[in-house]
Amino acid sequence: MFGTSGLRGIINADLTPNLAVRVGMALGTVIGTGKVFVARDTRASGLMLENALVAGLVACGVEVYCLGVLPTPALAYLTGRLRADAGLMVTASHNPPQYNGIKIFEKDGMAYDEERQKKIEKIIESGGFRLVEWRNLGRVEYGDESQLYVDMVLKSLRLGKRWQVVVDPGCGATSHIAPEIFKKLGCEVKAVNVQPDGFFPGRSPEPNTESLKPLAKVVKELGADVGIAYDGDGDRVAFIDENGGFVDFDRVLAAYAAHVLKRSKGGAVATNVETSMCFEKMVESIGGKVIRTKVGDVYVAEALKKFGAVFGGEPCGAWIHPKHHYCPDGILSSTLLLKALEDEGKSLSEFVAEVPAYSVIRRNIRCGNEAKYVIVERVRGLLEESFPDYKEVSTVDGVRLSLKDGWVLVRASGTEPLIRLTVEGESLKTAKRIMDKALAAVKRVAEGLESESCCSGSG
Ligand code: MG
Repeated sequence: MFGTSGLRGIINADLTPNLAVRVGMALGTVIGTGKVFVARDTRASGLMLENALVAGLVACGVEVYCLGVLPTPALAYLTGRLRADAGLMVTASHNPPQYNGIKIFEKDGMAYDEERQKKIEKIIESGGFRLVEWRNLGRVEYGDESQLYVDMVLKSLRLGKRWQVVVDPGCGATSHIAPEIFKKLGCEVKAVNVQPDGFFPGRSPEPNTESLKPLAKVVKELGADVGIAYDGDGDRVAFIDENGGFVDFDRVLAAYAAHVLKRSKGGAVATNVETSMCFEKMVESIGGKVIRTKVGDVYVAEALKKFGAVFGGEPCGAWIHPKHHYCPDGILSSTLLLKALEDEGKSLSEFVAEVPAYSVIRRNIRCGNEAKYVIVERVRGLLEESFPDYKEVSTVDGVRLSLKDGWVLVRASGTEPLIRLTVEGESLKTAKRIMDKALAAVKRVAEGLESESCCSGSG
């Protein structure tokens, strides 16, 4: 039911009000007479799901505080700051408008991990909800606490220069808050797609090279310093540089990680197994340590906490700043990036130019949901044989071999019947060579598995 980003699905197909009531009752069963904050992004189905969740919570005696439309990081921050027992965010992040989802946050603003989500799932499956007597039903309050989040961001930095920024919330949850924050920081702000709209008429809620073409054009035409775009719920950010170029996610992440380490005079930073090796190149060149985690921001957050790391992020634009809270925060990331540019006296393209550009190739291989895990488990030996001079092997998420001039990662998709094959090489030629060998290894294991099931006689 729950994945690495909570519960997600197509409205009224996978995700119905009925299911949302049961999620509310299951969480209410765990929280009891505690307090839960609820917020949502701008999706058309947001209020419907919110009302269903609230009904379930109230039935279990929970005090509910509805905060309206907010970015996910704001809900996570407020949950911790105002000491709620949990936060519930109604969002499907960067997914298309027909999707929605429910993400649960802990007291400290960290997303529920697998174990906690399993507990909720079990209660839903068993139907063992702890409903209270009528006189003990929870109460519901509505309010706006967004100013506390805005203040947190504003207090975290001061800008000396009057930056010219073009902000693109994509009609999502950052629509009001993000332009306001940049204005208060003294920037000259132009904004596009700032009318909250659950149909996302301006662009896809997923910021990428394709969806940000119009923003890139505006940045170039206005001669602005930077273009800043968020995903539907504002935990991710993508950048356009002063030349109107889309800024590579991996390289800007690596450049910013190095910047944080220079300021903190060393320490560790965390990222997932899919991030480019330019991350190590930047971090290790200044004496920092890299922790690689499973794919999913909650794993990066866990690693930051466990190892006391100073910064972490994933190359989808989800950056975590543990000094402030443990939820990826697009708005905070973009303001801190401006501050980093100012401190280093660089334009965005100059800041990223220091990071080496390598070649990444990604291939998805269709594969049954059960077979994908078996194949990933079995492919390790054959990969090691195919790359006899590999430097290191990691099984943090799938199998990842570090090579002299690149790396290869084979992992099962968490959500789709796919094996994801990612390789990186110092040059495109190297990347292609690694991909050919890795693909051959995966295919051989898959064929072996197929012929096994033919011979087993199970029909
Ligand atoms: Mg998101």
